[in-house]
Amino acid sequence: MRDKFMHIENCMTCNIRLVERGYVRFPCPECGEGIGRCVSCRKQGNPYVCPACGFGGP
Ligand SMILES: [Zn+2]
Ligand SMILES: [Zn+2]
Repeated sequence: MRDKFMHIENCMTCNIRLVERGYVRFPCPECGEGIGRCVSCRKQGNPYVCPACGFGGP
């Protein structure tokens, strides 16, 4: 399966580059915009906010 969010290179929450294993890219549940999260933000449960529609999630 092709990753349509390959262009996302930074964590949405802390803006770190997504180079460490364990990061995720996923579509915004609201608008489908691509969102990236680094492994530390995932572990800590840091919230993210979609830049396109403002939807926030844990
Ligand atoms: Zn992060
Ligand atoms: Zn969105």
